[in-house]
Amino acid sequence: MIVLQKVKDIQNCLKNSKIEGLSVGFVPTMGALHQGHLSLISQSKDNNPLTVCSIFVNPTQFNDKADLEKYPRPIERDIELLEGVGCDFLFLPTVDEMYPPDFDFDYNPDLGGLDMAYEGASRPGHFKGVVQVVRRLLQIVKPDNLYMGQKDYQQYLVCKKMIEINQLPVSIVRCDIAREPDGLAMSSRNVRLSPEARKLAPIIYNTLMRVKLSKEKPIEELLSFARKELSLEGCELDYFDIVNANNLSAINDKGKNTPLVALTTVKIDGVRLLDNMLL
Ligand code: AMP
Repeated sequence: MIVLQKVKDIQNCLKNSKIEGLSVGFVPTMGALHQGHLSLISQSKDNNPLTVCSIFVNPTQFNDKADLEKYPRPIERDIELLEGVGCDFLFLPTVDEMYPPDFDFDYNPDLGGLDMAYEGASRPGHFKGVVQVVRRLLQIVKPDNLYMGQKDYQQYLVCKKMIEINQLPVSIVRCDIAREPDGLAMSSRNVRLSPEARKLAPIIYNTLMRVKLSKEKPIEELLSFARKELSLEGCELDYFDIVNANNLSAINDKGKNTPLVALTTVKIDGVRLLDNMLL
């Protein structure tokens, strides 16, 4: 695997390696890689002759400085893992490389409200930062296919919308959520859970599954069941909602034949755990 830090180096390298007409797959990450990230790399490798991964802990999407500082950065292990799955290029820029003096920090497209609720409401400015960094990375790498995890469902929809608005020539591919054997969605933040919190955390997946299995019931009933379940001692529920999976708009029982997604974030032991399930 070739590791590059400079924009001009990754661009030159890709230009030289890219065989005319063959596609490039791209997996942007913030590192501290786990099987969830690696499954995105594998999906890209299955469908593209060249796969690029980026690792960049983007400061502009953190509204909590302490969270940014605590974010794990095991770069040597990440490189080993990427080599193990046969990733071709790792782009590992510094903050200055990503955000040169002429960077447009005002870029803030109208995402039709997709960025306002849920993670957007809990973390003001978060999606503005996400959209800016993903747009910049796409302009640098110019991939044909972009692989993003369903794990961050709202982020996936926000990026899809940003790509549509800018008419960027890239296809976005939504990849399934990789889970631990007990159902907990894999996340770089899971290492921060205490042993007791780790034991409690699968309640999120179990609740989502129970909602999915009872999806014929009235939505209000499903919501009150899930919200109660996720407010047990030790859990601090941020939100649990069931919405239109295409645009996160509110739904009532009459709209139940539209695709639905259950979205939740629960804080356990001070760690924010995101999860979701298509119903
Ligand atoms: P992150 O490093 O957390 O920004 O994640 C980078 C990419 O990996 C995003 O597209 C995430 O949605 C995706 N991802 C993170 N965790 C998982 C998981 N458990 N399963 C599948 N994809 C994931």
